[in-house]
Amino acid sequence: MRSNLVVVRCLAVLLVFSVFQTPLEARVEPSHGFNMFSAQEEVQAGQQSAAQVSRQLPVLPDSDPVSIYVQRLGEQLAAHAPGEKWPYSFHVVNQKEINAFALPGGPVFVNVGTIQAADNEAELAGVMAHEISHVVQRHGTRAASKQMAAQLPLAILGGVMGQGALSQMAQMGLSFGVGSYFLKNSRKAESEADLLGTDIMYDTGFNPRAMADFFAKIQEEGGARGPQFFSDHPDPGNRAQAVAKEVATLPRKRSYRSESAEFGDIKQRVAGMQPLTAQQIAARQTPAMNASSGSVAPSGSLRNFSHRDFVISYPENWQVYGDQNSAVTIAPQSGVSQNAVAYGVMINTYQPEDANVSLDQATHDLLASLRQSNPDLREIGHDEDIRVNGVAGRSVDLIGTSPLRDQSGHPSRERDWLVAVMRRDGSLLYIVSIAPDKDFESLRPTFEQMLKSLQLR
Ligand SMILES: [Zn+2]
Repeated sequence: MRSNLVVVRCLAVLLVFSVFQTPLEARVEPSHGFNMFSAQEEVQAGQQSAAQVSRQLPVLPDSDPVSIYVQRLGEQLAAHAPGEKWPYSFHVVNQKEINAFALPGGPVFVNVGTIQAADNEAELAGVMAHEISHVVQRHGTRAASKQMAAQLPLAILGGVMGQGALSQMAQMGLSFGVGSYFLKNSRKAESEADLLGTDIMYDTGFNPRAMADFFAKIQEEGGARGPQFFSDHPDPGNRAQAVAKEVATLPRKRSYRSESAEFGDIKQRVAGMQPLTAQQIAARQTPAMNASSGSVAPSGSLRNFSHRDFVISYPENWQVYGDQNSAVTIAPQSGVSQNAVAYGVMINTYQPEDANVSLDQATHDLLASLRQSNPDLREIGHDEDIRVNGVAGRSVDLIGTSPLRDQSGHPSRERDWLVAVMRRDGSLLYIVSIAPDKDFESLRPTFEQMLKSLQLR
């Protein structure tokens, strides 16, 4: 039955073709694969990772002329991307090595080194069309889904589909951030991105061969600048032939877009820039503070702090930052820097917008507001009821990014334990216990002891 139908369809198409002489345009269909992420989670995952990328890499401001140009070129290409309309955004990293990468759901990053190496606009467009294609094909979340499915027992996997792949991913300590395994594409993903990229190039008016030419050029040049691109985008082999084969399925065009004056200006501008090397970027990420687990160890004896709204006991060798009328951080001296807490306890109040909400709703509003200043803060597990000296409260476990770096210069994972209690006036008093993930359990008894001592006024 099925094959007959195909024959009928082919005949119909041939008939239309021969009668009207319209060109038979073939377009690559985006591939689909097992994916635990909803479209919404896909976008969320990319945005969280983009915020992290901006903190770790020297991303040029959006107002920089180079960023503006790349954003505009990206928009032209993305307008011809098939499939779901992802919220694309385009950014430039002030890095010397030739590379580009795409995060799930739209953010695309291009290194200054890539623009420096491109001889014409079509070559740069080729790299960007290729990255857009990774977004279209959802290669990052597909790779992450595969990994999670391999690690999780079937029973949990069922739950994940309902509860959200993003939080499950965070719980497993996986991410799409800088250096993420999921941004290193497979050869199969590469050839898919090349083919789809060919169509996007063509439909935007560029000569698609420029994409393969550029890849071949940086591969030939080798040197210190190229390999990074090929470690994230491995050569699937016969790139040029595959692109040529795809181009042959498209209607012949007499001419492609010619050189833009804008590209010339930008080329000149980047030629004068001195982007940082990967090594310099890593060195820039020196530890924000120098706290070792030993220097933050709490002493056994306690002392009381009396605030306008509460009283709490804390280890004698920790400090109180703030006063009896303000938000307060109680922490070891080496556990805090000017604007970040790596080890310690923060106590603050939160006024829900709606005065009559439940404790549960107020806690969720609070979490949403905390997430605005800490975009990668994620809830793990479910929040629970808790009683703090007879007062009903909610307890939530979170993970985020610590201001401390690990030995390889990457930010360490942070555990945050939030407890919120409702005060008589409907506002929340909340206390967040903070430590790098690896040290959290050893500090937990101290955090619990402090919470037990908390008395609302
Ligand atoms: Zn690629």
